[in-house]
Amino acid sequence: MFVPKRIIFEKDSLEYSMAKNILNRFKNKDGIEIIKLTSNKIKQHIPGEDLFSYYREGKKTLVVGVKKSLKFQSCKPSAHYQLPLVSGCMGQCEYCYLNTKLGDKPFVKIHVNIDDILNQAQKYIDERLPDITIFEGAATSDPVSVEPYSYSLEKAVVFFGERKNARFRFVTKYNDIDSLLDLNHNEHTEIRFSINTSSVINKYEHFTASRDKRIEASIKAIEAGYPVGFLIAPVFIYDNWKEEYHDLLLQLRKKLPNDLKFPITFEVISHRYTTTAKNIIVQVFPENELPMNDEERKFKYGQFGYGKYIYPKESLDEIKEFFMKEIEELFNNKEVKYII
Ligand code: SF4
Repeated sequence: MFVPKRIIFEKDSLEYSMAKNILNRFKNKDGIEIIKLTSNKIKQHIPGEDLFSYYREGKKTLVVGVKKSLKFQSCKPSAHYQLPLVSGCMGQCEYCYLNTKLGDKPFVKIHVNIDDILNQAQKYIDERLPDITIFEGAATSDPVSVEPYSYSLEKAVVFFGERKNARFRFVTKYNDIDSLLDLNHNEHTEIRFSINTSSVINKYEHFTASRDKRIEASIKAIEAGYPVGFLIAPVFIYDNWKEEYHDLLLQLRKKLPNDLKFPITFEVISHRYTTTAKNIIVQVFPENELPMNDEERKFKYGQFGYGKYIYPKESLDEIKEFFMKEIEELFNNKEVKYII
């Protein structure tokens, strides 16, 4: 669970019950600064003279605000729309795509007007009837670490559970899902857990849940009847990578119940980076040991107009062959969505 160092309440946010609950929960806790704004000028309340320090202070900051624009971003190919419950994440993963996307806004922000957000979702659902509309809850955030006091996912899960023509999904590296287990989700919410080997987690991730805690949470979600998937990402090639990814999959296999209601899904994504991301990462994590030597990678133009450095073809083929074989051998009821 995210325990912030400072909480900034934007103008008007305290009119909402979610903000009041957050204030009541944290206002008497030692070491947590409470800032109530009469404007929405957040940046001046987060210390930091450069990207390095601003990132670290920003990551310890919770902003509570009202989502003004209710135009949802599209979220292809995994969903039709992003559901903007939360933005940002308490984690400090060196390779995280949010470093580029939210570089100047590293804080976690909870949107308290969840009723407006869900009403807007209803409009998008109605527009696409009779087709099913899918919403992604973690496109620019990991909403799980604030769930114990935002209850945003809880509201969304219940909302989508009641709607025949809508589905919800989110992905997480955290395990704070206990409050979601007894909800009437109606199998309309898919929870995906992003997992990796302990070596990768210990080396490149900071302030995320351990491998085993994520697996434990995934088993609870399966037992609560949710469709569950695993994102193995990013996959790195390093000494013993095959042994360690095998061990990861084996540990998962050992803990999975035998009577799965839904196939377990797998999405496997090899490590890649853009030049923009690399330039930010070297400032925020100057000591990082991420493999980002352009000469050792293949440059690939992406569909969004910028190129990225991916592993060369022989390595990608090896990754694909390895995961296909391992997943095929270890899991009975499964679906491999893609290995890229
Ligand atoms: Fe980024 Fe996910 Fe790590 Fe959060 S947990 S910093 S969203 S990679």
